[in-house]
Amino acid sequence: MKLTKINYNTFIKVSIFLFCFFLTGFFCSAVSAKQTSSKHSNKIEYFFWNKIAKRSAIQAWKMMGHKPLPKNSIVLTSAGYSVIDGHTTEACLDGLRRFTGSSSGKGTLISVHRKRNSPLWFFFYDKKTGYGVYCEINSTLLSSTLSCLDSFSSKEISNKFTEIPVGAFYNILCIERINADYMLSNLEEWNDNFSDEIFGGNEFSIVTIANIIEKNAPYDLIRSAMFHDHLCPGLTSGYLLANYIEEHFPIDQSSKYFYFSLPPWCKDDAIQILLNTTPGKRSYAVTYLTQEDKDRLKGEYRNIAGIFFRKNDNGIWEGSVLEFDFDLAREMMNIDWNGMYWWESRLLMDIGFLPYLETPEIFISELKRFFLEEGVEPKDFARPGVDVLEEFGLVE
Ligand SMILES: [Zn+2]
Repeated sequence: MKLTKINYNTFIKVSIFLFCFFLTGFFCSAVSAKQTSSKHSNKIEYFFWNKIAKRSAIQAWKMMGHKPLPKNSIVLTSAGYSVIDGHTTEACLDGLRRFTGSSSGKGTLISVHRKRNSPLWFFFYDKKTGYGVYCEINSTLLSSTLSCLDSFSSKEISNKFTEIPVGAFYNILCIERINADYMLSNLEEWNDNFSDEIFGGNEFSIVTIANIIEKNAPYDLIRSAMFHDHLCPGLTSGYLLANYIEEHFPIDQSSKYFYFSLPPWCKDDAIQILLNTTPGKRSYAVTYLTQEDKDRLKGEYRNIAGIFFRKNDNGIWEGSVLEFDFDLAREMMNIDWNGMYWWESRLLMDIGFLPYLETPEIFISELKRFFLEEGVEPKDFARPGVDVLEEFGLVE
């Protein structure tokens, strides 16, 4: 393991402060001297983000000792979601595509869902060696430069970039071996890595998504993981539910449908992505269940995942109560949920589910099918004060 985490000792802090001060001075002194247009501003900012991506890719290759072949390159990033001082970061994606050969069309350039105020980070992975480099950009440095960026030419930006030392450019910079086989045979080492948050708290997102891409998971599962921000067995259960629904409860382009999640878990992010049922479009409802609520359920509903509704041609809504059997999945995959590290059991199941994605019937069953009365809609049951368990006949 080769780990280079940037530590902020006093010397570095002072250096960064002085450096940022220098940069701000350098950049801003020219603002009044140049009249900038919004066209120039857009162009120079696009160039700036591309340059950040390029510099980070070059840094990663240096640490890897080579540049990965495009066919082996997988890149994950918060670019596209992170916003630095009001500046969006999507232009980094073009830089990453251009310099690494990874692309969204190949399913190897992944923008991972993050809050807007998250740091900007890149993860460069070479699936041939199993090594990946995590780079988290120093937001303070970016803020000081973005404030007067448009007063410069692209050449001036390029020159300045080459002068910024690595210690000032990144908050975290490290290389790790993350392929699943290695992680699962070096459990202690990797458990320490999770505890130490070596990738700034993004460890689980990165290792699960990178490993399923490497294992040729279907793009729509990866797409669901991008939204959910990681891949976990719960999300995969949503992928399987969507497959089950399409197979056993056909819906066409003109069908109206609604998912009543009961109770919600990670699956709900996959279902929204795959079926485009969302609360915003009034086609998704969620009811959380306490232990007391769960205890009220009839025995046959103990594994309930929710109720899928379809509006039929006669205007009547038809509902299907679905269950997901995680106990069976854990048994089939030899998972000791309480005896394994939390990430170990999840990573094993992420991989373990892959051969079963097209056979959801193994884990999913329809418990009941019923019709709502004419004029009644599924969303009527998501109103305040409605005992949905009682209304759907799920309790004793
Ligand atoms: Zn999850």
